[in-house]
Amino acid sequence: MYVRPETELKTVLSFCRREKLPFFILGNGSNLLVSDAGYEGVVISTTEGLTRLEAEGERIFASSGQLLSRTAKRALKEGLTGLEFAAGIPGTIGGALVMNAGAYGSEIKDVLEYARVMTPEGEILTLGPKELKMDYRTSCIPAMGYTVLDACFRLKKGNRDEIEAYMNELSLKRREKQPLQYPSAGSTFKRPKGHFAARLIEDAGLKGFTVGGAQVSQKHSGFVINRGDATAADVMELCRQIRERVKTQFDVELEMEVKTLGKF
Ligand SMILES: Cc1cc2nc3c(=O)[nH]c(=O)nc-3n(C[C@H](O)[C@H](O)[C@H](O)COP(=O)(O)OP(=O)(O)OC[C@H]3O[C@@H](n4cnc5c(N)ncnc54)[C@H](O)[C@@H]3O)c2cc1C
Repeated sequence: MYVRPETELKTVLSFCRREKLPFFILGNGSNLLVSDAGYEGVVISTTEGLTRLEAEGERIFASSGQLLSRTAKRALKEGLTGLEFAAGIPGTIGGALVMNAGAYGSEIKDVLEYARVMTPEGEILTLGPKELKMDYRTSCIPAMGYTVLDACFRLKKGNRDEIEAYMNELSLKRREKQPLQYPSAGSTFKRPKGHFAARLIEDAGLKGFTVGGAQVSQKHSGFVINRGDATAADVMELCRQIRERVKTQFDVELEMEVKTLGKF
């Protein structure tokens, strides 16, 4: 079978637009809360067709459906440094660019040389992090209606043992600090200027606060976890109450980092 994912993507996207069908580009879904009522539209998954992963000199090329963790491991294999921070972030390259994913003082925009995106008209553009307006957990990709096709990361030659040791250190930190035994979408809220969301939530007395099956993690107050039977409505109601309490007590507006799909 011969598959050309880009051509297929273009065909599907133009079909959706022509037929006025709502559509959604899904990566790994790690930053997503889907409505209990589901989604009436076409969900286009990138994780099966768009998975190219190649290295050349100090550059790594990865398609949008490739996992960020696998891309970071490839960098390690090539002895390239710069993507260590990303090894433990669950998600795809597409999702990581949209969110400008980051951790431990580094962000995707620091290592992204360029990305190829498809415009709503089916044109392919090659854009750098500035043109993609990548900033703290944001980019212009959704607003522009771009679909990420692939990305080129510019890394540096490093020492393989040191790269691996740093990845292991960060992985240990994650396991120690984050409630990884429960389903979650990672940090629920963005970091407000001059504050930490987790600290504000904890100071508001909301550690362990529960609505239905959704709970503010006892281990990390920045995470809303599913204790087993949480509905999306539970999660949203919990988030609403957290935002209200934090606004009342500290006059700080918490902005959702987690994206939603469907009606709430
Ligand atoms: C346990 C845990 C830990 C986490 N830790 C971190 C962390 O340290 N740092 C961090 O930044 N995030 C973290 N996250 C959040 C999440 O991993 C990131 O936001 C990740 O980048 C999401 O990627 P994804 O492929 O799952 O995107 P999805 O959740 O599938 O999608 C996110 C958004 O990107 C869009 N999108 C996806 N692919 C494309 C594409 N090809 N073209 C256009 N739009 C696209 C979607 O439409 C959606 O709007 C964590 C999540 C969990 C569950």
